[in-house]
Amino acid sequence: MSFLYKSEPVRGARWAELFAAQTPEIDFHIWPSTGDPAQVRYLAAWQPPENLADTFPNLELVFSIGAGVDQFDLSCIPAHIPVVRMVEAGLVAGMVEYATLAVLAAHRDWITYAAQQREGVWKPMPVRTASSRRVGVLGMGVLGKAVLEKLHGFGFQCAGWSRSEKDMPGIECFAGEDGLQDFLARTDILVCLLPLTAETRGILSRQLFQHLPQGAVLINLGRGDHLVEADLLDALDRNQLSAAILDVCRVEPLPQNHPIWQHPRVMLTPHIASMTQPDTSAEAVLDNLRRHREGLPLVGLVDRERGY
Ligand code: NDP
Repeated sequence: MSFLYKSEPVRGARWAELFAAQTPEIDFHIWPSTGDPAQVRYLAAWQPPENLADTFPNLELVFSIGAGVDQFDLSCIPAHIPVVRMVEAGLVAGMVEYATLAVLAAHRDWITYAAQQREGVWKPMPVRTASSRRVGVLGMGVLGKAVLEKLHGFGFQCAGWSRSEKDMPGIECFAGEDGLQDFLARTDILVCLLPLTAETRGILSRQLFQHLPQGAVLINLGRGDHLVEADLLDALDRNQLSAAILDVCRVEPLPQNHPIWQHPRVMLTPHIASMTQPDTSAEAVLDNLRRHREGLPLVGLVDRERGY
């Protein structure tokens, strides 16, 4: 029985150590080494190998190395094989750090001051309290909830939007299409932490921006395809949005000639908001392997119908 890891090799080497210590009965292989393909029961990958079902006929479980599964073609993974996304403490902690940094930067006008510094402009703006600022998080899943909890601690007026109804102490909760407009109308700083699905692709568009208060800030930490980049540039030009912080782009790396690179009111980072951490992710996967063997519910099981 073996486990095949197909992702970043340094993290893979650490997983191999932890697996050897905790489940010595499972052989651990780092792609492109596979051992006997018929022995492969478990696969963890960012991008699964081609011809998955034919190559590994006894596969029982597929893990995504990331929190999302939008990079997977789920139709290539036989329906009887559960697909599990990454739910692990290190990834959550990294996202909470980045989202907090970005929201505080938006709140304290950091992007404007960075632009002013480049222009040699000394121009203070009023300092507002967190309690006067309304933050809204699209997506109240593992990451969205953790981010909301932290931001609530700063005193921001926090709200979240999800597909199903939620109840979270101190957080105004909105759900579904019917709740979206009201959620947007009360949001000064909008953070996207949605999974990329057929329903959420292109959601950050002109149509959505028009429901935000004028001068709102967009922070996209989900996926590049959530955002219609031309609509963002247009909204910035019209001052419908005052600034944007983007960690993800439609094409990564962002092409050199793309206007976002030079835009004075856009802050860009290269998809580093958070990353799957070697030790905590190995623990999460080992825990799910135990659950799988004992017939318990898997943590992060993907619903193929919903796409996340
Ligand atoms: P979860 O699956 O735990 O949460 C997803 C949330 O989005 C849920 O609250 C869900 O609602 C909501 N949602 C999904 N579809 C819709 C919809 N159509 N309308 C309204 N709400 C919707 O995911 P995570 O929190 O773990 O991760 C979220 C995403 O963050 C990942 O998919 C990935 O794209 C991104 N990410 C980005 C990283 C980066 O470095 N930039 C790193 C890690 C993740 P409900 O609760 O009702 O199901």
